[in-house]
Amino acid sequence: MAVRMSDDYDVVVIGAGTGGYSCALRAAQLGKRVALVERDERLGGTCLLRGCIPTKALLQSAAVLDTVNRSSEWGVTASGALDWEAVKAFEQRVVDKLVAGVAGLVKARKVDLVQGSASLAPGPAVRVGERTLSAADVVIATGSAPKLLPGLSVGERVITSDQALWYPTVPASAVVIGAGAVGLEFASLYRSFGAEVTLVEALPRIAPLEDEDVSRELARAFRRRGIQAHADARVQAVDEVPEGVRVVFEAGGETRAVTADVCLVAVGRGPVTEGLGLENVGVELDRGFVKVDGQLLTTAPHVWAVGDVAATPLQLAHVAFTEGIAVAERIAGWSVPDIDYAGIPRVTYCTPEVASVGLTEAQAVERGHEIRTEKLSFQGIGKANIVGESGVVKLVADRNGPVLGVHMVGPHVTDLVAEAMLITNWEALPEEVAALIHPHPTLSEAIGEAHLALVGKPLHT
Ligand code: NAD
Repeated sequence: MAVRMSDDYDVVVIGAGTGGYSCALRAAQLGKRVALVERDERLGGTCLLRGCIPTKALLQSAAVLDTVNRSSEWGVTASGALDWEAVKAFEQRVVDKLVAGVAGLVKARKVDLVQGSASLAPGPAVRVGERTLSAADVVIATGSAPKLLPGLSVGERVITSDQALWYPTVPASAVVIGAGAVGLEFASLYRSFGAEVTLVEALPRIAPLEDEDVSRELARAFRRRGIQAHADARVQAVDEVPEGVRVVFEAGGETRAVTADVCLVAVGRGPVTEGLGLENVGVELDRGFVKVDGQLLTTAPHVWAVGDVAATPLQLAHVAFTEGIAVAERIAGWSVPDIDYAGIPRVTYCTPEVASVGLTEAQAVERGHEIRTEKLSFQGIGKANIVGESGVVKLVADRNGPVLGVHMVGPHVTDLVAEAMLITNWEALPEEVAALIHPHPTLSEAIGEAHLALVGKPLHT
């Protein structure tokens, strides 16, 4: 069958998650004729449908419940009860609104939406069912899916973050395996909803990618919240039993067995490449992820990869947006520099929140920096006392140079990290930040005061 003119595109994007839709929208904005292929019924991918947005909506409900349960601290008498159906309905409303927003943008920018599973063909071209879409450039944006431990499969009681979102009830108890972002957020969420939570992490500390002081502060906060966290632990067995699921693990020289309603496995996410026919066009993999160069071009000409499926350092929605936009602009002939992954902020929405940008203390030392560090407690900050939360801001700076890293645990630090992002990416000197006036009383003063302390002018510490 001859290729129909209507199936002739400048750009075909496979996958309508954050990486794919941002690429499609930007390419269309730059005047390209774009097709966006998606096999789900809805647009949005992991972030909108199974990740960032629904989990943050649930975490907001958890935060409201926590606040209501603590209301007497602020002189308000109230008592909170969870209405799971209503919590789910709120989450769904937020997701539906944002999915409709993306669908509206796709339509408004005249991107052709093609429903189905795509595979690559030489040309490059993209096959979707009977159709062959020819393309000057193809962008692979198929994302990632939760990984399981070897020998485990999803069941009624053994779940990943996907099933956790659709679980019919709030579990009364949970064992969470893995203390990365997913594990920390679900452990926090379940605890807020009243569950007994055990968190099991293989590496020597929870939040193992963060600065050591952040892990320590978070472990302390989780302990106060009644979350049983075990680091440096080896999971030996996960078995569904009549009372629930039994997880056996070894930690601190002891073997422990915990029986809970559910076991949430949060040990990372793997790339989605099956059935894509990458071999048909010479796209190579790198440990399962699509191999790309600094410009996000794969090993096949005119085939690009963005988002979680690409072998780039961070699986984050904001990274996927950035990669999608950069590739659209490169396809349009713009010269776009390689992304500086070291400058990207990381945010985890557990209670207390965690956020960081730049080098940890260990990384700075490893790279040969002579450093100065400062740790400021939120307890000295008026507004933190008003909102009733504590935490820490840690700065890592070169002894004679700029701020290299900002690491925070505490109230609203996932928003505060935006300032830290500017400080580290613009390579500000601690003295320059210390000279800036932060509004009072705000949580942002923690960043200002940490810099004052770093340059030897502490105010409230
Ligand atoms: P992750 O890789 O961040 O964390 C997985 C954790 O599981 C690691 O700490 C690892 O050491 C641990 N682990 C692995 N095998 C184990 C075992 N056998 N026993 C105990 N622990 C084990 O992965 P994730 O938390 O699943 O998240 C997936 C991706 O999604 C990450 O890149 C994450 O940053 C991203 N994400 C981001 C956010 C956010 O930005 N707020 C939220 C959720 C997920």
